[in-house]
Amino acid sequence: MYKIAVAGTGYVGLVAGVCFAEVGHQVTCVDIDEKKVNVMKSGVSPIYEVGLEELMQKNYAAGRIDYTTDYKAAYRDADAIFIGVGTPEQPDGSANLSYIATVARQIAESIEKDCLVVVKSTVPVGTNDKVEQFIHDFLVNDVRVEVASNPEFLAQGSAVHDTLHAERIVIGTESKWAEEILMGIYKPFNLPIVSVNRRSAEMIKYASNDFLALKISYMNDIANLCELVGADIQDVALGMSFDERIGSKFLNAGIGFGGSCFPKDTKALENIARQNGYELRTVRATIDVNKDQKTLLYKKASKRLITFNGLKVAVLGLTFKPGTDDLREAAALENIPLLLEQGADIYAFDPVGANNFAILYPEGKNGRGSIKYVSNVEEALAGANVCFIFTEWGEVKAVKADMYKELMRTPLVFDGRNIYQIKDMETAGVEYHSVGRRASQ
Ligand code: NAD
Repeated sequence: MYKIAVAGTGYVGLVAGVCFAEVGHQVTCVDIDEKKVNVMKSGVSPIYEVGLEELMQKNYAAGRIDYTTDYKAAYRDADAIFIGVGTPEQPDGSANLSYIATVARQIAESIEKDCLVVVKSTVPVGTNDKVEQFIHDFLVNDVRVEVASNPEFLAQGSAVHDTLHAERIVIGTESKWAEEILMGIYKPFNLPIVSVNRRSAEMIKYASNDFLALKISYMNDIANLCELVGADIQDVALGMSFDERIGSKFLNAGIGFGGSCFPKDTKALENIARQNGYELRTVRATIDVNKDQKTLLYKKASKRLITFNGLKVAVLGLTFKPGTDDLREAAALENIPLLLEQGADIYAFDPVGANNFAILYPEGKNGRGSIKYVSNVEEALAGANVCFIFTEWGEVKAVKADMYKELMRTPLVFDGRNIYQIKDMETAGVEYHSVGRRASQ
C-alpha cells in the first residue's frame, strides 16, 4: 500500500485517485476549488463518469480516500504525488504549464520525506525535466525527490473502466528507484506496463492522441470525397476495417473531434515540432480538416434553406461525445452561435450536458434567435422545421425514423453522427443529410 496524493480532481486526477483507492492505496485528492472538494466529501462526483460516484462513496466509507484543499497536509508525507491538473491550449497552440508550475512549487514547499512526483497531465516533451529542476530549486527540506512521467490514456465517458482495465500503462523514469515505486503502485492493477525514459513517455502520449485524431480527420476527408463521387463512407469504412493493419476502431466519419484532448494535443505537438524547427505536416492537415468539419452541418443546412430566421430548430446532443457532460470543443458550440445569429429558435436536448451549456447560453432570447432546453427528444422535435444531430446519445439513437416524420413540421434532418440507415429515413419520408453518404430527398 502506498500513500498517494493527487493534485487536481478533474477527469484525470479524480478518476486516478479513486482507482488507486479502489486497489488498496491510501489516497488524498487535492484541488484548489473548495466548492468541488465539499461536493466530493459529500459523496457526489463533480463530473459525470459512469461508475465514478459509486467508487467514490465506497472508498470514502472505507477510509481509503479523502479530499482537501490543504495541499501541505496532503503532500507532506506522501510516497508519491500524481499531478493531474489542466494543461490548456494557449493562443499560439502551445500548452499552458502554469498550473503544473504552481503544483510543482507547492510540492517543493511541502514535502518532508522522499517522494516521487508523477506527471499524469499531458505535457510537452522535456517538461518533466523542467518540473524536476523547478522542484529542486524551491525544495525546502533535504529529501530525495524525482519526477516520473505517467501519461493518461482514459477516454471520457468510460474513464473508470479505462483506468481499471487499461490496455497499457506507460511509465517514463530516469532511475531504478522511480521505476520501482511506479511499478509497485500499479502492481495491484495487473496490467501491461511499458517502461521507457521520461521523454519517450511524454512523446507516446502526444503521438497516440494525434494518431487517433489523424485517423478521424482522414476518414472525414475521405467522407467528404465520398459525397462528391457517389461512394458511401460507411461501406468504405466497413471494407477497410477487415484489414488488421487498419483496424475497425475510429473509422466513423462525422463532424470532427472535440473534447479537451485531441484539439489541444494536435496543436501542442505541432507547436513542439515548430519549436524544434520541424513542420509536422500530417498533424497540420489533421487540424485543418477538423476545423472545417465542425461546421459541416450548418454549411449543408444553409445551402438547403433560405433562412433560419424564425425557424424552430431541434438540436439533439450538445456534448462533444456521449457519456460525458464535457462541452469543451463540442461541435454544438460551433454551430449553435451561427444558428442563433441567423435568428433560429433552438430547442435543445442533451441528457447530461444541458446545464453546462445553459451557463454559456442561458435560456431565452439570444441575439436574433432564442434557445430553450428541453428534457426529452419529443419536445425538441415537436413542430420543428429542421433537426440537427450533434451527439449520438443512446436517447437520440433510440429515436425511430418515423418519429421525425410524425413530430416535426417539416421532417428535415442533418445528422452529424451517421446514426440512421438512409433507406429507413427514406421509407419514413424524412429528408436526411448525413456525412459521407448520399442525401435522401
Ligand atoms: P480538468 O480541467 O478537468 O481538471 C483539472 C483540475 O485541477 C481542476 O479541478 C482544477 O481546479 C484543479 N487544479 C488547478 N490547479 C490546481 C492546484 N494547484 N492544485 C490542485 N488542483 C488544481 O482537467 P482534465 O480533463 O482532468 O485534464 C488534466 C490533464 O490530463 C490535462 O493535461 C489533459 O490533457 C490530460 N488528459 C485528459 C484526459 C481527458 O479525457 N480529460 C485524458 C488524458 C489526459
